[in-house]
Amino acid sequence: MNTAKKRWMDSDLELYRDNVRRFVQTEIAAHGEKWAKQQHVDREVWRKAGELGLLLADVPDDFGGSGGNYAHMAVLFEELAYAGDRAFGAHVHAIAAHYILNLGTEEQKAKYLPLLASGEMIGAIAMSEPNAGSDLQGTRTRAVRDGDEYVINGSKIFISNGYLADLIVVVTKTDPDAGAKGVSLMLLETKNAPGFKVGRILEKLGQKGQDTCELFFDDVRVPVANLLGGVEGKGFYHLMSELPYERLMLGIGAMAIIERALDLTVTYTKERKAFGKPLFEMQNTRFVLANLQSQAVMARAFVDDCIQRMIDGELDTVTASMVKLNLSELECKVMDDCLQFFGGYGYMLEYPITQMYADARVQRIYGGTSEIMKEIIARSM
Ligand SMILES: Cc1cc2nc3c(=O)[nH]c(=O)nc-3n(C[C@H](O)[C@H](O)[C@H](O)COP(=O)(O)OP(=O)(O)OC[C@H]3O[C@@H](n4cnc5c(N)ncnc54)[C@H](O)[C@@H]3O)c2cc1C
Repeated sequence: MNTAKKRWMDSDLELYRDNVRRFVQTEIAAHGEKWAKQQHVDREVWRKAGELGLLLADVPDDFGGSGGNYAHMAVLFEELAYAGDRAFGAHVHAIAAHYILNLGTEEQKAKYLPLLASGEMIGAIAMSEPNAGSDLQGTRTRAVRDGDEYVINGSKIFISNGYLADLIVVVTKTDPDAGAKGVSLMLLETKNAPGFKVGRILEKLGQKGQDTCELFFDDVRVPVANLLGGVEGKGFYHLMSELPYERLMLGIGAMAIIERALDLTVTYTKERKAFGKPLFEMQNTRFVLANLQSQAVMARAFVDDCIQRMIDGELDTVTASMVKLNLSELECKVMDDCLQFFGGYGYMLEYPITQMYADARVQRIYGGTSEIMKEIIARSM
């Protein structure tokens, strides 16, 4: 394990990490199997995390948050990953809340942030559609103004927290002829929303306990006051402005998973023997693991630098895309190479490395695919 001290950690954060770790072990990791079977976490865990102030730790206390900064969120994302959790959707929840915090009207912030912070409301963000994933300009979900309301029609796919979500940031087209300027974000309260339907929870390769769903909107009415920021046509700009928060979050999770996989693999290869000696004493094992460890330590330096930049309000979209790209690609490589050392056991789901391998694959796809990250980076060159 890379034991270098993280620059963004301090003694208060160490204490905070101890609390988060205890919570994650007892209230999250312990339920992993049950949640995987039922395909969603229990609602109760959201309330408990909210009571401890973990959900929106970086939101000002005026809005019900804990008044911390991004370091507190980084600790949560790391601890979830170290514990092997891929079910609890605190990530998308925090993203949804940050749209409201940074882009919402004062009324929207006052109304929704305290409920999201306490876990009374669970958040989701619905961008992707059957025919519009990477290319969000292809969004077909329409929001048409009718008096004091918008009427939403369309559908979304692959929406994390989709089954449990109480508040969904929905990407809509308010003017289909205006390209990017015709996109608007609507805040949809799902409870008692006629015409809103959650489809089935999708069967996935990994991340089985996460409720990834299809959503359907059939003349769903949303008050005009729930247009994010109160101005039509700003949706695309809103999406772009929040990308660094989301992409770094994905990078942090990947980093912690890489570190966990290397720990597990070093331990296993020191114990498992073949041809009379531990696997770890074979040159191939040593060279492969040394190589991965070197890449992990380099990646950690970059992730920590990005966390510090985010805390300082200086992380730009291109750098955030680099961290998402590099960590996603490295995560998948590390899972594959590490799994190989487990031989047949590495194909058995009861071994954590197997689960981690399956869970990791989507990292190169969601939150913007690796190819889209490269496009963004190349455009800046
Ligand atoms: C488990 C899971 C959870 C998800 N959670 C959410 C969520 O909470 N909210 C949400 O809105 N979405 C979510 N998604 C959707 C995810 O963000 C999209 O799947 C992703 O953006 C890719 O879109 P797509 O699936 O339509 O693929 P496509 O856009 O059809 O892409 C297919 C392939 O073409 C490549 N490609 C596309 N455009 C280009 C280009 N210009 N240059 C080079 N290659 C290109 C892509 O990189 C990819 O390899 C989730 C997906 C999964 C699997």
